Amino acid sequence: MSDQTQIRTRFAPSPTGYLHIGGARTAVFSWLYAKRYGGKFILRVEDTDNERSTEDSIQQILDAMAWLGLDYDEGPFRQTDRWEIYHSFIKKLLDSGHAYRCVCTREDLDEKRELMQKSGAKPMYDGSCRGKDIPADVGKPYVVRIAGPKDGKTEVEDLLRGTVVFDNSELDDMIIMRTDGSPTYNFCVVVDDADMKISHVIRGDDHLANTPRQLVIYKALGLKPPKFAHVSMILGSDGKRLSKRHGALSVLEYRDMGILPDAFLNYLTRLGWSHGDQEVFTLDELKSKFDLDAVSKSASRFDLEKMTWTNAEHLRKMDNKALVKISGNAFEGIPGERLETLLEMLKPRARTLVDLAASARIYLEDGLEYDEKSVTRFLTSDTASLLSELADRLEIANFGRKEDIETVFNEYLEEKGLKLKILAQPVRVALTGGTVSPGLFDIMAFMGKDKCLARIREGARRGRG
Ligand code: GLU
Repeated sequence: MSDQTQIRTRFAPSPTGYLHIGGARTAVFSWLYAKRYGGKFILRVEDTDNERSTEDSIQQILDAMAWLGLDYDEGPFRQTDRWEIYHSFIKKLLDSGHAYRCVCTREDLDEKRELMQKSGAKPMYDGSCRGKDIPADVGKPYVVRIAGPKDGKTEVEDLLRGTVVFDNSELDDMIIMRTDGSPTYNFCVVVDDADMKISHVIRGDDHLANTPRQLVIYKALGLKPPKFAHVSMILGSDGKRLSKRHGALSVLEYRDMGILPDAFLNYLTRLGWSHGDQEVFTLDELKSKFDLDAVSKSASRFDLEKMTWTNAEHLRKMDNKALVKISGNAFEGIPGERLETLLEMLKPRARTLVDLAASARIYLEDGLEYDEKSVTRFLTSDTASLLSELADRLEIANFGRKEDIETVFNEYLEEKGLKLKILAQPVRVALTGGTVSPGLFDIMAFMGKDKCLARIREGARRGRG
């Protein structure tokens, strides 16, 4: 639960690649937390790493967020547009003596580091420029360093992990501005989170080690830090680091696989958060139920099978109009009532939108792809004559009524003394090319007499070999 009046969260991606599962989950948690408490969600692009940041990555991140519906109230801000703000804060720290200029050269530092390593000490900056009040016009290149605490401890109060204690002796006087005048990563994050009045920083636990360093900067600036929640890693289903072989890594690839955005949000949120044993959540449920106190401290495992299952559950419940809209042009030109029938027929079995569109083609298009195994097993010389007789018999059926098709079909079976199960699979393979489909009479009524009889006769032909 939150004890602050205005909740402000942010997502702060570094645009050095596409938006991956881990990053997306951080975004989703931050977004949901803001939604849960009527707060604001801010998007900030951390593009200070000139060499690795690309416009293409920014666009991909924005596209993925738009696909997921992760709308932001403020931003996107870009750190490269905020140089002046960072410099004004650096000046503040220099003026107040909380930061100092350092003219140590790389060679000096390397030499010292080597000596420290040799003597078994942890290599860190020895503070030789600290307290020297080196002026800006020193005539040499300089960096600006924070004058951090030398002893004592820095405690990170993490909402998920409790208090995590760091020894200040482990934190050296870190650089906040490089010789070329560019501010460093940890410094920009602090200035931005403070300036953007972020109340809760929700991020991956790979950033936990940065947090004490950032707290030192907050303290030096006399600013109140936000609350922190460091969320655990997402691993692959085998417990190893998530990689391509566990499923796609880029969020947009899931869109292309036919996953619904709400199902993706649902599954991602369940990766590390739980609410009793509920698995399927509508977006509104997520927005009203998500909270940080039910986020797990331990790593979660990504399971493509479970994501697909979650997707199938969402598909089944989805309103047909929304389904048609999200399917692009897959169902174009099909009259309303017919489309309703088709979707009601296919929805219970489809796992993805791609599945749904592919199964629709079986009933809409003229051509048919046959599954070879099913053909070999069910379209045989034994079934060929039955199929051809059945087709002749069905000429009299009124295909406008599925009960009528069923009656004629059953009369034929009775006459031959056959059980439905003997003929059901051969007919199904003849009609659909495979052994799995909605109810036989439903698909026959949907396809109509001409297409059905032609396919059953073609099935007989294939059976004769
Ligand atoms: N830009 C960082 C990243 O993409 C996130 C930093 C943060 O959330 O504080 O990993």
